[in-house]
Amino acid sequence: SNQIRIGIAGYGNLGRGVEAAIAKNPDMALVGVFTRRSPESVTPLFPQAQVHSTSLLSEFRDVVDVLILCGGSKDDLPRQGPEMAAMFNVVDSFDTHARIPEYFDSVDAPARANGKTALISIGWDPGMFSINRLYGEALLPDGATYTFWGKGLSQGHSDAIRRVPGVKAGVQYTLPSSEAIELVRSGSRPELSTRQKHTRECYVVLDEGADAAAVEHAIVTMPNYFADYDTQVHFVSEEVLRREHGRMPHGGFVIRSGNTSEAHAQVIEYSLQLESNPEFTASVLVAHARAAYRLNQQGQYGAKTAFDVPPGLLSIKSAEQLRAELL
Ligand code: NDP
Repeated sequence: SNQIRIGIAGYGNLGRGVEAAIAKNPDMALVGVFTRRSPESVTPLFPQAQVHSTSLLSEFRDVVDVLILCGGSKDDLPRQGPEMAAMFNVVDSFDTHARIPEYFDSVDAPARANGKTALISIGWDPGMFSINRLYGEALLPDGATYTFWGKGLSQGHSDAIRRVPGVKAGVQYTLPSSEAIELVRSGSRPELSTRQKHTRECYVVLDEGADAAAVEHAIVTMPNYFADYDTQVHFVSEEVLRREHGRMPHGGFVIRSGNTSEAHAQVIEYSLQLESNPEFTASVLVAHARAAYRLNQQGQYGAKTAFDVPPGLLSIKSAEQLRAELL
């Protein structure tokens, strides 16, 4: 068959999402899931999927066309990205924005040296949001770009509230301020403070006998995480937390507001409403795996980002078909 053969490196939320996304793309086939844990301890979504140890990956060089890296941005990708890009075409979702330039360089050299193509920082932010920020700036140079996130579950902020003494469990949602969004949509190009753009909402289960007022104070005054925002804390039972807050929703808006003349303001908006952040991110990764494969066939080696991918390469359809159907 001439399917694109995919490997999944790392099997957490994103890895499971990639397995689900491959099943929606008939031109792709899963070669296997690769994990650093014992392969027997990992249960794939589809029983026919094979699970192997990451240590055996080099044996799969000739049977994996694109390896999708599903490790965490903080500790996994800085090591796995450069290592894997020397052996495979790769796609990853590295999302530590401030470190993207150095991560790009660390992947570019091994990929280039080995004739591989590495698409880094793919997903929705960075990723689809980045592309929409770029389109906004390029099309409306006299303007301002606004990114709002949410409603979304933030893993980092949820971890932070769980570390507060007296907290047994909890989750944190980031919410965009609807007043701020309306102001931006009006084309008035407002200057918005951190506090005006987003609010934070926490659902917390207390330890037995913990002081609710003290916990709430510790959360809302926490520097870097909550102090600069209006934060609401709701105390709930373990049962409610499990039943109502077990999903990973996310999304947001990229809005460009600009003027093409003194008389005319123009507003561009891109928005995402995601029931599952990892499943959507995985779908974006899989479309980019197709592009990585095609770029590699064209001899375009080295690290690239979403900005470097011609959009037609993401589609399962041919260029002719796209011209006829979507143009
Ligand atoms: P997880 O924590 O679920 O998984 C990360 C890695 O941890 C896995 O690859 C896996 O590696 C290991 N792991 C998973 N489950 C377990 C377990 N039970 N015990 C031990 N190890 C485990 O992270 P996510 O999949 O949710 O997210 C991965 C990254 O995706 C994030 O760090 C973020 O950077 C990025 N991301 C990017 C987005 C974007 O828009 N660009 C959006 C969303 C996420 P192994 O199998 O080898 O053990």
